Amino acid sequence: MRKNLCALCVKPFVSFREIEMFIMRLDIVYLLKKQCYFCNKESYMNKQTVLLFLFLFNGITLCSQTFTKQDTLRGSITPERIWWDLTFYHLDIEVKPDEKWLGGKNTIRYTVLEPHNTLQIDLQAPLQIEKVTQDGKALQVSSEGNAHFITLMKNQQKGASEEITVHYSGTPKEAKNAPWDGGISWKKDKNGKHFVGSSCQGLGASVWWPNKDHMYDEVDSMAISVRVPKELVNVSNGRLKKVEEHDNQTKTWHWYVQNPINNYGVNINIADYVHFGETYDGEAGILDMDYWVLRYNLDIAKEHFKDAPRTIEALEHWFGPYPFYEDSYKLVEAPYLGMEHQSSVTYGNEYKKGYLGNDLSASGWGLKFDFIIVHETGHEWFANNITYKDIADMWIHEGFTAYSESLFVEYFYGTQAGAEYVVGTGHIIQNEKPIIGIYDVNQRGSGDMYYKGANMLHTLRQLLEDDEKWRAILRGLNTDFRHQTVTTKQIEDYLSQKTGIDLTAFFNQYLRDQHIPMVEFKAEENQLSFRYTRTVEDFDMPVKILVNEEVHWIFPKKDWSELRLTYPVENISIDANFLVEGFLLR
Ligand SMILES: [Zn+2]
Repeated sequence: MRKNLCALCVKPFVSFREIEMFIMRLDIVYLLKKQCYFCNKESYMNKQTVLLFLFLFNGITLCSQTFTKQDTLRGSITPERIWWDLTFYHLDIEVKPDEKWLGGKNTIRYTVLEPHNTLQIDLQAPLQIEKVTQDGKALQVSSEGNAHFITLMKNQQKGASEEITVHYSGTPKEAKNAPWDGGISWKKDKNGKHFVGSSCQGLGASVWWPNKDHMYDEVDSMAISVRVPKELVNVSNGRLKKVEEHDNQTKTWHWYVQNPINNYGVNINIADYVHFGETYDGEAGILDMDYWVLRYNLDIAKEHFKDAPRTIEALEHWFGPYPFYEDSYKLVEAPYLGMEHQSSVTYGNEYKKGYLGNDLSASGWGLKFDFIIVHETGHEWFANNITYKDIADMWIHEGFTAYSESLFVEYFYGTQAGAEYVVGTGHIIQNEKPIIGIYDVNQRGSGDMYYKGANMLHTLRQLLEDDEKWRAILRGLNTDFRHQTVTTKQIEDYLSQKTGIDLTAFFNQYLRDQHIPMVEFKAEENQLSFRYTRTVEDFDMPVKILVNEEVHWIFPKKDWSELRLTYPVENISIDANFLVEGFLLR
């Protein structure tokens, strides 16, 4: 074995699977459970490695993952962030696509929570801060990488509303693989016209504009003004307030967002757009639905975007009213696959059903809808309405949203279809790393946050055996955490409380361990024995099984339990709706 370090942190040198294979080969059974010194999670190490670490580090188990000061400045609530509460941004910029340049200013309004005189603003190189002012006076800025510390001259009185203005400019990082890497995509459409868009989840909005780049704090409202060449349109979040014409062949597009918005949800989209729209009679009144597409895609979009009101209809049924009626709903064509920009969902699925024409679930149901319209719109509830405080908890966005795809299918095609879709996505699950990432260093968890997350929620629904209650819980989440940033603990506690089931071990298993629980069976005549393996402490989730096609609930634990039957056991299977594997010992 190579260096054996914390297997529960990201990028372990040795995965559990490797350890298991190693043990099987060499018959080593001396596994010791240790707690990682940095991330506090439990990990398994073989005896030799533990002894080596005991020797080298006096009993401290170390993670393989190392983080820099920049990761901490980006990912934690620093002393220079915690003392002020964001209330408003006015991002006012000009974009020059010919030069791949942008610049302007962001006016940042905040309330003083505790008096302090240094304030952290984030902006990523190669963009540069030109100056920062408060009440018209220039302030001193000292920079440490992408974090910029502003020394305030004015006394910051508790409860006061204050404002600073950050002026900046430059050629921002160009996205090469949007939306996964992030930055600005500077593309051209088929007519050779500029086709520009921003995307920045994970990397952070500070890749293109200066802000408090941590998810815990959102502004209450935001104005976005973007000046572009006059033949182009800029679409951002919220509602279009005004288009201002200038003498120098440019126009400024003024947008306004009336609701709280997270940083990565803010976006610019600049192209030769045409607009069409409709209204939808929804749960909270009349919802304006606007579509901005490339000029030559108008006809196909008018047909294809019929999936948008269908999505609102299905997801309002499951999750409650669309969370941003005041800001409207928009689909905006983008030069990349798509992103959940709030009230300005960006679309690049090539006007195909499925995911670029493919069914992720391999069940057939995935070709009944445009994946990007449904998935990214689903994020309006789980990402934009309920938002993670730390990207380590990104499953709150992706787990629920991946699950929303199956709820869309269920709404239109029935319960069985929805179940086939979500269970069908199970083939994407990797089980290589835990779903939850590492806190305070801007580190997301494994890609299993999508479909393992979705199947975990589907499993939880089976435990409840009450679909109306389950729907009420999903709607309740969106009411009780409306327009808030949250931790996984808040969501876990809420689900435990509302289901009436203590889900502590359930979430530890599915979110903090990478294994799928295994039920081992032994069948002897009329007796079926079973137990759990690969489970965390106290995991005792009941499971529905079929014995000779007859349904039984069993309650496996780590020790063997028995089920007495009136007939000999011929075949056993676990209900496919449970994210559990089974193994028959012979
Ligand atoms: Zn997503």
